[in-house]
Amino acid sequence: MSRLRLIDIGCKAGLASEGYDAAGFEVVGVDREPQRNYPYEFIQADLRDLDPQWIAENFVAAAGSPPCWRYSRLHFRTGREYEDFIPETRALFEASGLPYVIENVEGAPLKDPLVLCGTQFPGRLRVRRHRLFESNVPLSAPMPHPQGKHPLHFTHDRRKAHYGLLDEWTAFVSVNGGGNCSRAAALDAMGVRDRPLTKDELNQGVPPAYTEHIGRQLMAHLAGNAPAAALETPTAVPLFEEIPMPQPPGIPLGAPASWPRVIIDRAGSQCECTGGCGATHSRTAGRCPRRHGGWANRREVRLILAPRKPLTPLAQAVALPDAELMATCEECLKGAEKLARPPAA
Ligand SMILES: [Zn+2]
Ligand SMILES: [Zn+2]
Ligand SMILES: [Zn+2]
Repeated sequence: MSRLRLIDIGCKAGLASEGYDAAGFEVVGVDREPQRNYPYEFIQADLRDLDPQWIAENFVAAAGSPPCWRYSRLHFRTGREYEDFIPETRALFEASGLPYVIENVEGAPLKDPLVLCGTQFPGRLRVRRHRLFESNVPLSAPMPHPQGKHPLHFTHDRRKAHYGLLDEWTAFVSVNGGGNCSRAAALDAMGVRDRPLTKDELNQGVPPAYTEHIGRQLMAHLAGNAPAAALETPTAVPLFEEIPMPQPPGIPLGAPASWPRVIIDRAGSQCECTGGCGATHSRTAGRCPRRHGGWANRREVRLILAPRKPLTPLAQAVALPDAELMATCEECLKGAEKLARPPAA
């Protein structure tokens, strides 16, 4: 089976592409400049010369990192005018009709963007590197942004109070700016596989873990749209019909109207949690009493279809058999995810 093709415009050395590849896409990179270190199929082109129809016919999703100097700190430092290709990129993607993602730096004028931070990928990333992601598909972070300050960063600056206390191989590091940490430590902190990248190429890139996380959500979106015929089969369970998608705390697999019939029958509109959330539910024989459409804590209960194993990556979750999915209320899902999550570093 051929893999799903994603076009990555403004691909530079391919750090974002690496994440989309890890999420299962076959990535084709496009950039105005030649990219010697780009590891996938590459097309040198200006985005203004690309045809949305060609994109729609050859790809299932589009990603772009338009030049963003205008909104970066560098701009404020140099005061020079730089080009802003965000509107062109958005127009191109919208005209293609594909699910899309536009990535940029903090301060860039993206519409309702998701912000990702390295602290949301504990054990994988050691960079702060806030990045914005605009999409026409709902996106969520792997976990809430930790409250309070960011961790101290490794430094060579003797004037800093924590100079000498941190190790560049275990602490958060700054990839930007000369001499903050070694190139090898920067690769490790950014979660980039070792290949001949310059420090400048690393500076300009996003941690692949970000785009892998986003790519998996794109995958799930595509998977959800694929079996359209199956979803049209009337389920005839009035209670579950015409309910808008709930605002989920974690990974939702869809609104009740699109659930497999077997789960609707099995759950009987009641949360299937039997204690995985940490509550004993002892007054109701060990099972959560909340029912879809009922009321709890002055809010209407909306059941969510979720993997029985909390924090299952979305790309895996969409492929799970019915037995490994459960109907759950938000409280139980939140509780189970909290129990499963490793403590913040
Ligand atoms: Zn942060
Ligand atoms: Zn529950
Ligand atoms: Zn529960």
